[in-house]
Amino acid sequence: MPDCVFCKIVEGTIPSHKVYETEFTLVILDINPANPGHCLVIPKKHFETIYDADNTYLEDAIITCKIIAARLKEKLDAEGVNIIQNNEQAAGQLVKHMYFHVIPRYKDDKVVIGYNKKEATEADLRDMAEKLSIATVPKEEAEETTEKSEEEPKTDIEFVEDVPDEEESEEKLRKWAFEEEY
Ligand SMILES: [Zn+2]
Repeated sequence: MPDCVFCKIVEGTIPSHKVYETEFTLVILDINPANPGHCLVIPKKHFETIYDADNTYLEDAIITCKIIAARLKEKLDAEGVNIIQNNEQAAGQLVKHMYFHVIPRYKDDKVVIGYNKKEATEADLRDMAEKLSIATVPKEEAEETTEKSEEEPKTDIEFVEDVPDEEESEEKLRKWAFEEEY
């Protein structure tokens, strides 16, 4: 096991203020909170980044983030919650053990979590979407899809709009269209 502060916290060899735990996840208070109640959601197994995180641990961690977010709203009257996950030094990762910050937020709390927005043209966005587009379905999903399509015959998906009854007057229809727009 690497010399990792979070692994030691999970083991209990370094003390922490535990808030919650599951089979896969530990939640502790951040000792330098952005706001009081700032929690760290830590998988109980060592993964350096999200790239190599086991999906079972990752799923449990994100569901735990949801539970903690609700708790911060309930107990601390948080008006909002940030969930942040950083990978590698360039992205601001401080501890080399994959984790999530869950931070209660309030209007005008002066907490700064941000970036400067850059301009992107329509062409930039189109090219980037093409470059990043993932054409192949991940193996597990592909297997699921194959299983499903064996069970049920493949049909075209129909998108049915919520259209008013034919009996309704033209005026009503116009009103409906108007409301849709706004
Ligand atoms: Zn670790």
